[in-house]
Amino acid sequence: MKVVTALAFLASAAAFAPSSKPAFTTQLAAEDFLEAEPYYDQSNVPVNQFKIKTPFTGKVVSQKRIVGPKATGETCHIIIDHEGDFPYWEGQSWGVMPPGNREKDGKPHSVRLYSIASSRYGDDMTGKTGSLCVRRANYWCPELNAEDPAKKGICSNFLCDSGPGTEVKMTGPAGKVMLMPEEEPDTDYIMVATGTGIAPYRGFIRRLFVEDTPAAKAYKGQAWLFLGVANSDALLYDDEWQASLKSHPDNFRLDYAISREQENTKGGKMYVQDKVEEYSDEIFTKLNNGAHIYFCGLKGMMPGIQDMLKSVAVEKGLDYDEWLKGLKKAKQWHVEVY
Ligand code: FAD
Repeated sequence: MKVVTALAFLASAAAFAPSSKPAFTTQLAAEDFLEAEPYYDQSNVPVNQFKIKTPFTGKVVSQKRIVGPKATGETCHIIIDHEGDFPYWEGQSWGVMPPGNREKDGKPHSVRLYSIASSRYGDDMTGKTGSLCVRRANYWCPELNAEDPAKKGICSNFLCDSGPGTEVKMTGPAGKVMLMPEEEPDTDYIMVATGTGIAPYRGFIRRLFVEDTPAAKAYKGQAWLFLGVANSDALLYDDEWQASLKSHPDNFRLDYAISREQENTKGGKMYVQDKVEEYSDEIFTKLNNGAHIYFCGLKGMMPGIQDMLKSVAVEKGLDYDEWLKGLKKAKQWHVEVY
């Protein structure tokens, strides 16, 4: 990896810049100090450099609630300082080892994975931070008809409650399933997310449309983001998507499925697969022409997506299983659900 010293940072990165560091407003000569040679060469993508027995200790820079008051649940954007010692690529995940031990057997809590929500340069463009988009997992007890704090999610609550300076034991970076095929800068991306499944796409979109990277300079395709959430207060990073729509109207496209506020064509709730279905002709054409499709978010999204794609394929006289096999073989099909 080529390492060049960063001189100054983009003003656009200042929104999430760590408060302890100055927010420079001069533009970098080139944001290329974390690039492979050539920039799309994935042969040295870092994988599992830090493991459970030898974890990395990062430090929380900031933690911020990023959803409105009427959102279903709480989602936080958490920036972690890794001092440049824990590099990653867009689309990878970090493991987090929450402190403390399990009640059932006294053993340390297990690692939880979180998709990295920033580009490799981090929100502050230093290449020394990474961001996570974490939904606080709470347990709704039907008997109490209330949340039961004894059963709340261990790691998401640890992260969403962390303050600046909190130490975070981490593993990874993990996964190569969600990387972008940057050697083909004409590639269309179809990015489908539910909730925090938006995280890897934030890294993609910053890399393609916000930063001054070689990947951004080369990119000539269209990146199309579909985000499904429950209500408009639960939308994530909308201001950033609006800025990218403005700066790259020909290369970025955005569609929301807001289940409790929009109706699908059959009069039911608008889930993300319903929104994708509205554009199924275009999507099938794009996929036939080599587009890559990504799915990230709750596991529960996939059956609905698959049913929808299957019915469209059948309508088009395609053998769905063969069609899907073809996409997988050509590495155009990327799934990371949890
Ligand atoms: P846990 O403590 O593991 O609990 C899990 C659930 O069980 C919680 O809802 C909890 O309330 C409930 N529970 C606890 N005790 C009981 C009980 N006694 N009875 C019934 N229920 C109980 N998450 C994100 O928010 N953002 C991401 O970007 C993200 N990326 C991921 C990427 C990958 C590849 C994977 C695999 C997962 C990802 N996740 C992400 C999910 C994440 O790893 C965790 O699973 C999630 O945060 C919940 O972990 P937790 O420790 O908070 O909950």
